[in-house]
Amino acid sequence: MDVKPLAQNLSPIQWVVSTFNFFYVLVQHLIIWLFKPHPPPSPELPQQVNGRIAIIGAGLTGVSSAAHAIAHGFDVVIYEQTDQVGGIWAHVNKTSGLQLNSLLYRFHPGVLWSCTFPKRDEILHETRRIWEEYQLAPRTRLNTRVTSVKRVEGTGKRLSDPSADEGARSRWLINDGADGAFDAVVVTVGTCGAPKRIDIPGLPRAEEDTSEEGGWREAKHRGGRAGEVFEGEVLHSSELDRADLEGRTVIVVGSGASGVEAVETALSKGAEHCVMLARDDKWIIPRNILMDTLIAAQPFGRQTPFSFLWEKLIVLLNYRDAPELVPARVGIFEGTPVVNDEFVDWVRQGKCEYVRCDIERLTRHGIRVSARSRDEKPGEGTETREYEGDVLVFATGFHKPEISFFEEDLFPDSYDRPNLYLQNFCTEDWSVLMTNSAYVNAIGTVGHFHIGIYMRILLTFLLDPDVRPTPKDMKLWVDVIRFLKRGARGGALSFFTYMELTIWLLLFHVVRIDRLKWVFFIMQGWGVYPEEFRRERIAQARMKASEVLEQAGRRFEQAQEWGAQAQRKAAEKVPLAREKVGYEVREKAGQAHQKASHAHQNIAQETK
Ligand SMILES: Cc1cc2nc3c(=O)[nH]c(=O)nc-3n(C[C@H](O)[C@H](O)[C@H](O)COP(=O)(O)OP(=O)(O)OC[C@H]3O[C@@H](n4cnc5c(N)ncnc54)[C@H](O)[C@@H]3O)c2cc1C
Repeated sequence: MDVKPLAQNLSPIQWVVSTFNFFYVLVQHLIIWLFKPHPPPSPELPQQVNGRIAIIGAGLTGVSSAAHAIAHGFDVVIYEQTDQVGGIWAHVNKTSGLQLNSLLYRFHPGVLWSCTFPKRDEILHETRRIWEEYQLAPRTRLNTRVTSVKRVEGTGKRLSDPSADEGARSRWLINDGADGAFDAVVVTVGTCGAPKRIDIPGLPRAEEDTSEEGGWREAKHRGGRAGEVFEGEVLHSSELDRADLEGRTVIVVGSGASGVEAVETALSKGAEHCVMLARDDKWIIPRNILMDTLIAAQPFGRQTPFSFLWEKLIVLLNYRDAPELVPARVGIFEGTPVVNDEFVDWVRQGKCEYVRCDIERLTRHGIRVSARSRDEKPGEGTETREYEGDVLVFATGFHKPEISFFEEDLFPDSYDRPNLYLQNFCTEDWSVLMTNSAYVNAIGTVGHFHIGIYMRILLTFLLDPDVRPTPKDMKLWVDVIRFLKRGARGGALSFFTYMELTIWLLLFHVVRIDRLKWVFFIMQGWGVYPEEFRRERIAQARMKASEVLEQAGRRFEQAQEWGAQAQRKAAEKVPLAREKVGYEVREKAGQAHQKASHAHQNIAQETK
């Protein structure tokens, strides 16, 4: 390919973007080289397993957790209630993409993103690639909803049985126990269950399945109820892919990430205008990796007297010409912010009207609300307004997935989600881990290195009885964290993983120096690699090398054969060639002789 004209055609901005993308991919390759654990070299391995782990949910957290476990010699079975791998990303719009920079969304060290904000299909592709590479397909039970997780009789220590040995280890049976007993259970059901809609007077009746078992069954809106009923189309924000929004006015209920994304999708599909109805204001932070990392790394899990510094910076960067959009009553660390660069512009340009309000009811052609000013609280609005619209979109999130499959005594009242040990371990039993399924409010990224770190903490507990925490220790930990977060204005963030993990890791090793041997394993994944994988990889490498040698040998023999054939052919051709050359020489000599005798005759006649 001729690179010169291509390089000449790039604008300076494209140059910068291409250079950035080049380094972006380079950095990811470095991460892969340093941290990606080797997958099992064949589907039959591991055979000498370090333990068996059940994983509930085949979203990116489940796939990544399983990939980590199997790479360190543990066998896994993944249970997924739907018929596909990919979790929430398999059920959102094609145009849905990451809010945060994808460098913060490396859910497994082997992930390779092509750009900073990949869309749904690339996220699904990477999830499925890891799933296949780590030999997880034969270990996944699709269309299998987990409805029961029970301890094997006589194992573990129950709250109801104080006489049982503190260190007694649980073993678990999933559903009817057909897959045998497991040493640990990892719950990766996520935080997005079935699509959630709110009840508004005037809403056409919905045949909604809110039972959780229904999973992704669609709600069909039909029929009516007493009074005026909205005649337009009603959708959930996850259903916009197949909606025809060209030239229509779209009313979006909800101002969180899915609300902003619904406006984005509607405008990109040709909607004429959007109205966003906001019960609460959300902070909108820019798509800037440095800024997002700094906000996510905030150390206290709550609003502090210094949080105004972040707020001032965000106002400066994101709200310059739209001060009326800046949340007045909620701090940056009092809820999950929205990451977006365009929304404020759409409001400024009039493409989207942002209305702080309480909804009164739907009318035949729109919605009636009590509008509020920036400083008024929900319920204090007095100005009645009506907005007309063709489509109503519920951007009201998803139901929290159920975990009623566990025995009740595993999650006592004050130690239920999100009040878990290290935010993820059940305080009654360290062998139950709930990665990315326990938090409520979050600033951070659920798809980053912590999935691996949590998994390796669990593997360390399984490998080394000396490091297992008792229920008493774990509850004490939760109490201390709760004390630190006490009295947080607006409620503390439940997801401030990295700071809590850092404190834990420090204490884990300070208290017992002999645990230092685990530090590189827990942090980087180095040091625990099954011997049989190593042997198999060496055997495979040897086999490959001997195959290559054999092939080279065959090629050499073939080359020799060709050489001999060529020689034989040449030898056969030599006499023929000689004969031909002799004949030609003789012919030419005869002709010359003839010419000479003619000439001689001519000269003889002339001299007569
Ligand atoms: C449009 C969009 C943008 C987002 N952007 C970001 C972002 O930028 N950064 C970020 O950090 N997060 C983002 N998120 C949040 C997103 O939810 C997480 O990043 C991530 O996808 C969660 O993955 P998960 O595997 O933990 O859960 P999920 O993807 O929800 O997967 C859970 C799986 O568990 C299965 N399951 C549930 N219950 C059972 C059961 N009883 N038995 C068997 N299977 C069960 C479900 O069917 C599902 O497949 C975004 C979400 C959406 C929708």
